[in-house]
Amino acid sequence: MADKYELVIEMAKRRGFLWNSFELYGGTAGFFDYGPLGAMLKRRVENIWRDIFVINEGFYEIEVPTIGIEDIFIASGHVSGFSDPLTECQKCNEAFRADHLVQDVVTNPDIMSADELTEVIKKNNIKCPECGGKLGTVYEFNLMFNTSIGPGSKRKGYLRPETAQGMFVDFPRLLKFYRDHLPFGATQIGKAYRNEISPRQGVIRLREFTQAEAEIFIDPRDKTHPKFTEVAGIELNLFSHEAQEKGESQKMSIGNAVANGIIAHQFLGYCLARTYQFLIRVGVSSGKLRFRQHMKDEMAHYAADCWDAEIHSDRFGWVEIVGIADRTDYDLKSHSKQSGTELSVYVPYDTPKKIQRFAVKPDMGVLGPKWKGKAGKIAAALKALKAEELSGDHIELTIDGEKITIEKEAVTFETITEDVHGENIIPHVIEPSFGIDRITYSILEHSFFEEEAEVEDGEDDKKRLVLRLPPEVAPVQAAVLPLLTREELIGPANDIIKKLRAAGILVAFDDSGTIGRRYRRNDEIGTPYSITVDYRTLEDGTVTIRDRNSMKQVRTGMNDIANNIYDLIYRGKPFDKAGTIVK
Ligand code: AMP
Repeated sequence: MADKYELVIEMAKRRGFLWNSFELYGGTAGFFDYGPLGAMLKRRVENIWRDIFVINEGFYEIEVPTIGIEDIFIASGHVSGFSDPLTECQKCNEAFRADHLVQDVVTNPDIMSADELTEVIKKNNIKCPECGGKLGTVYEFNLMFNTSIGPGSKRKGYLRPETAQGMFVDFPRLLKFYRDHLPFGATQIGKAYRNEISPRQGVIRLREFTQAEAEIFIDPRDKTHPKFTEVAGIELNLFSHEAQEKGESQKMSIGNAVANGIIAHQFLGYCLARTYQFLIRVGVSSGKLRFRQHMKDEMAHYAADCWDAEIHSDRFGWVEIVGIADRTDYDLKSHSKQSGTELSVYVPYDTPKKIQRFAVKPDMGVLGPKWKGKAGKIAAALKALKAEELSGDHIELTIDGEKITIEKEAVTFETITEDVHGENIIPHVIEPSFGIDRITYSILEHSFFEEEAEVEDGEDDKKRLVLRLPPEVAPVQAAVLPLLTREELIGPANDIIKKLRAAGILVAFDDSGTIGRRYRRNDEIGTPYSITVDYRTLEDGTVTIRDRNSMKQVRTGMNDIANNIYDLIYRGKPFDKAGTIVK
């Protein structure tokens, strides 16, 4: 029997959601096209992400090139370390992820070195899964697609493996835009590229995919969140370190998880909560969603805490769809070092701090006449001296390679108390990173149902395929169906279409086949509402609206149809308030 992945992908191909890219030429693993319905579904997911992580947080979105220069990826560590272990079959030349091949014989293959993996393969006599041939020595394969910028390969470039670096590199400009004030967030939705080693997980592991990332720059001394109380009561399925040791996730409120130190701090907890709200709103099933904490040996060395939102897929098991990390000051420090530019923020204190400072005051009246042109350099060197260097009866300095002796009379020094009004700090970064394609697939899988249903108007098949998408993400939001293909019914149908389109609702016209068949066709692509125009419409100006989920119908006026449908889609109006229930 076909598994759910097969059923969903079959439907997705047939109905215009998704299919393999370059099909005409036989296709290549790791690339998928979004068809007319898929592209619209994905846009709607992105727009809800924008609503939650941009508009509601008061952040902004930026857009930077998808090709980056080498410096960026040297700083980020991608040039030296963004690789997966690769082994090739020596008989058929097929390439494999070595860590995937050994996952049944060792517990934690993703933290093993290439040499260790070679050993495991040898010891366990693991052969090529395709042809049974001998596997070669494992080596690290860098996953970045590289290119050259301009002719003559003078300058190396890479297709970005994540959108995040754009926000780090733009930090000085963004800081000015946000008027030197922490916290602030910059976000980006865009393509990322990873030359995955022979991806075999269909739409889950792509070589070109869309990320939506927020980089939130915060003051490291204060990781509380001003809106934490809004989300503290939200219960999540948490798969923490401890829960993983026990093998079972636990339901817990964000507030409790932070109070008990399970989630490192409020800011991270807040991001987990907003991620949960986003995923549920776009149609991920809450029963198939958990938040898994990275184990200590799995977490990047610089990260303070890291959680993945994972969904359960019938075929692939638990799959990471979002990563949420406290990346500390790693990124800004790395780019600071690579670029030679300080990336910090001046943070004023609420009340000035008094600090004691040792101050050396050179006497130019003595130094000037004696040392003439050199006096300036000598004064600067004197000012840099520490108290212990001034303890002798004279002072030794080296100026322009020449050793000189300065008499004590040429300087006075003292410890002074000063008011300090602030300090330069390197912000920490909290990063929620979303894979939009995995999320879009999860939504399709979680809302796909094959069910027995009552027979409706002329449709005699009891099997119903239905995509229970939230109305807000459904690509087609309303179908307008004239009962018969007759001019007198098509006229009002077109009026309704015009009204709905003017309200920004994506509507499809369908007049072929029985009404029951047309309902089923729309159920399969997730159209939440079908509006039928019949002969009664001509008498009293009313139409029926059929609800995809319950298959119930209401009778309602066509004059106000656009508001009515809009309220159903976007304002959570209950279906039985949309008109008079048809018995
Ligand atoms: P990462 O930077 O590896 O934490 O990735 C962030 C998110 O991007 C993940 O949670 C995934 O949803 C998504 N992602 C990463 N790699 C791929 C891939 N090869 N194909 C599709 N989505 C991916």
